[in-house]
Amino acid sequence: MIPAIRGTHDILPGEIEKWQLVERVARALCERYGYVEIRTPIIEREELFAKGTGETTDIVQKEMYAFTDKGGERVTLRPEATPSLVRAYVEHSLEQTLPATKIFTLGPMFRYERPQKGRYRQFHQFDVEVFGMNDPAVDAEVIDLAWSLIQALQIAQSELVLNSVGCANCRPRFQEALLAALGEDLPRLCQDCQRRAKTNPLRIYDCKVEADQPIIDRLPHSVDYLCEPCATHFAAVRAHLDGWGIPWKLSHRLVRGLDYYTRTTFEILGQTLGAQNALLGGGRYDGLVKDLGGPDRTGIGFAAGMERLVLALPEGVGVEPAPRAFVVGIGDDGRSEALKLLRELRQAGVAAQMEFEARGIRAQMKRADRLAARVTLIVGGDELARGDVTLRDMRTGEQQSIARGEVVPATARLLSGT
Ligand SMILES: [Zn+2]
Ligand SMILES: [Zn+2]
Repeated sequence: MIPAIRGTHDILPGEIEKWQLVERVARALCERYGYVEIRTPIIEREELFAKGTGETTDIVQKEMYAFTDKGGERVTLRPEATPSLVRAYVEHSLEQTLPATKIFTLGPMFRYERPQKGRYRQFHQFDVEVFGMNDPAVDAEVIDLAWSLIQALQIAQSELVLNSVGCANCRPRFQEALLAALGEDLPRLCQDCQRRAKTNPLRIYDCKVEADQPIIDRLPHSVDYLCEPCATHFAAVRAHLDGWGIPWKLSHRLVRGLDYYTRTTFEILGQTLGAQNALLGGGRYDGLVKDLGGPDRTGIGFAAGMERLVLALPEGVGVEPAPRAFVVGIGDDGRSEALKLLRELRQAGVAAQMEFEARGIRAQMKRADRLAARVTLIVGGDELARGDVTLRDMRTGEQQSIARGEVVPATARLLSGT
């Protein structure tokens, strides 16, 4: 046996139904909100993420599946979707061809991290992006889409947290204040924080080291250093959410781990594996499109971890099998008629199964039970002689004879519950 690679996982029947549910709900919401799907390659030039995600991030420094291909080009499996979507937006001039550049994508991402329960090296994201729209109502719409997804999936104990990290005009002032407040405490922080203080001080807020927390708790908050346009923008976003009755909490530690965020940042937290974890996160990244060689257009979006969403689903959701029919044939003539009926049912859009290997009626009925068939249709010598089929309702155990010509529509009606 050659096992799967560490940090990857198969999604098997019993679990795949949950994935399909999450994907179905996500697609349906996107359609309702006017977001269109695009799919980009999982392999890209390494420099796209070095530039887009940021040279100083852990993702680019430690976690990328980057290699030199046979043509001598540096490529990488994508560690996140946003830079790829920005690239596609610029490369295909999507702002000219799409009525509104509101897009989404679903697919696998790759990061070489230490695998843990619920965290994989190949993981999957649902990713939403809007380009070229500045109005705070767009921030609110994106957050509403994210919130509606979590509500539609009936994920309990979810919590929306918000922050604003400011812009290129006001952030330097905040960074200065942050470093000034750290002052003599800086040497007492962990090695990572020491490095962050030099490369991107905001990222000190990401630190999970226990001993650093009392110091970090005393640091200033970005919302107190916003310039006037940033403050006005953030107030409008909050007012829209309040107007829609979407509950939120301010979280001054929400600076997000990536270099490109500006202004609004947000996360939705939920219960997975007995702890509160981020199910999705995102924000505005007004400089990224230009940084990646495109026109000066703003952007905002979020990425949801599919593994996390599936884990957070309530018990029993998405596992209900589709109601189906099972066809039983007795004797050679009965089996041959049953095979005809099987195909007629499928052609009529009815999910129908039959046991091909076992011939005895008991073995066939056992199979119907295992498949949790809603209806069993029996064709034997008696039925053939009468020109009918015995229909057994597996829930009530009731049986009735139905004329052969009527059996397909009768089964379809019963399965659809009308
Ligand atoms: Zn600002
Ligand atoms: Zn630290």
